[in-house]
Amino acid sequence: MTQREIAPSLGWPSSELEAKSFIGGAWASSLPGKNICSPYNNSLLGKIFPAAPDEVDSAIKAAEASFLKWRNVPLKERCARLLDFRQLLLRDIDLLSVSAALESGKTFSEARAEVLKGIEVLEFAVALENSDQGGIMEVSRGVTCEYRREPLGVTVGISPFNFPAMVPMWMIPISIALGNSFILKPSDKVPFTPCLLAGLMREAGIPDGVFSIVQGGKDVVDGLVSHPLVRAVAFVGSSPVATSVYQQATGKGKRALCLGGAKNHLIVTPDAEIGITVDGVVASFTGCAGQRCMAASVLVAVGDVDRIIDAVVETASKIVLGRDMGALIDRAAHSRLTSALDGAVREGARLRLDGRCSPRPSGCEDGNWLGPSILDNAATGMSCACDELFGPVLSIVRVATIDQALELERQSRYGNALSVFTTSGHVARYVAERATSGMIGINVGVPVPREPFSFGGTKESKFGVNDITGWGGVEHWSSRKKITTKWSAQSDKNWMS
Ligand code: NAD
Repeated sequence: MTQREIAPSLGWPSSELEAKSFIGGAWASSLPGKNICSPYNNSLLGKIFPAAPDEVDSAIKAAEASFLKWRNVPLKERCARLLDFRQLLLRDIDLLSVSAALESGKTFSEARAEVLKGIEVLEFAVALENSDQGGIMEVSRGVTCEYRREPLGVTVGISPFNFPAMVPMWMIPISIALGNSFILKPSDKVPFTPCLLAGLMREAGIPDGVFSIVQGGKDVVDGLVSHPLVRAVAFVGSSPVATSVYQQATGKGKRALCLGGAKNHLIVTPDAEIGITVDGVVASFTGCAGQRCMAASVLVAVGDVDRIIDAVVETASKIVLGRDMGALIDRAAHSRLTSALDGAVREGARLRLDGRCSPRPSGCEDGNWLGPSILDNAATGMSCACDELFGPVLSIVRVATIDQALELERQSRYGNALSVFTTSGHVARYVAERATSGMIGINVGVPVPREPFSFGGTKESKFGVNDITGWGGVEHWSSRKKITTKWSAQSDKNWMS
């Protein structure tokens, strides 16, 4: 499976791809390129050209110049441009999905779903023209207080490899709709899909410099986060990098929201409905090959739920790589996960399903494939039960009571999501009220809130105050200016006026 074989009718280029920076409406690349290979078979997809320090500086200065004009464009007109962008996203959804699938290793349908979720955030952003009416109140006779939502200036988003389209789209539409300019630093592992987004933005008439891309890794992030003209940063990625970017940005007085890693618990109770539970658990830990911050990674079995666990193992064993499940991002991820499986067995876990035995898709034998893997009898202190593995590995921890299951989740350093599978409303409510994670699922394996309910976890899964989508995103990318006005006659003077 090479890019040349995949859907040339979609407009996918027949030559190797080039991921350059997009600065002030022009493509830029002064440093040498680095190869990017597809996770499916490690064949060459194209090259990424990291931005040089002077290119990062130029991108920020161009974004500042564009911001000073864009902020004066009325909200309704800004939203009109974004609505045109939405039409173009829908027109090119297959091309965007092929691109996201090829570079991240997920399946085409998973890639399509991520583009659609990105569009959902855009739809929330354009609805601001109707839903964000500000506030005004007469606080004393002849005296009003009002607030106006103001953009911040140059804003920056740094995204991870696992959602090349969706995570950028969590940030871009809300920030731009509010009147900011936005610079994306995509993952240096999946740099191509954001370039397609840039082309569509230009086609939609979004002015040059309002949206920019700077390609690269840590050096580029450091250049962005330390620049005096950058006012706000959002980061999505692993917890160690989230911590460092958060400290760097807030240390420079910038607003920062940094989403980190996860270790999500799925509590299964004996009264759970078997069909909904098995489908929910398997889809959660195998979707996107487990490379989702919302993926289930610990099944907490409360009491005797063996009939459900047996069905989970059987269903997961039927998953076909390349058809139902994609590949891991790179060879390093593959060897990290196979070592983790060996390590768990050494520590005493029982390997009930070994994804290393799953057949690789024909023609893709050189890819980074690992089938669903299930480790039973994982003890609470084991690495497979506590650390983020970020792959299709489900660790089963057995406990006797719901309170023990909740205690396990409370002790986790992560706090992204928790789900409970039960037919008891009382148990569902008991868990939802006591769990420490930011996003709770009841009979839902991947409890991603739909807009306008915002996305964000707790503990080491999120550093910063707001959530990244919905109204949390609006608060992150804007400030509220308070205006107090007096138009009263002197004769109406009172204690306040
Ligand atoms: P990562 O932390 O390695 O990289 C994220 C971004 O930071 C990339 O753009 C990368 O180029 C950049 N980067 C890498 N090292 C850096 C450094 N030392 N300094 C500054 N920038 C650096 O994460 P990843 O491997 O791309 O993505 C997987 C991780 O992201 C997982 O931990 C996953 O749970 C997490 N994730 C979290 C969410 C969420 O909403 N909480 C969503 C998606 C992914």
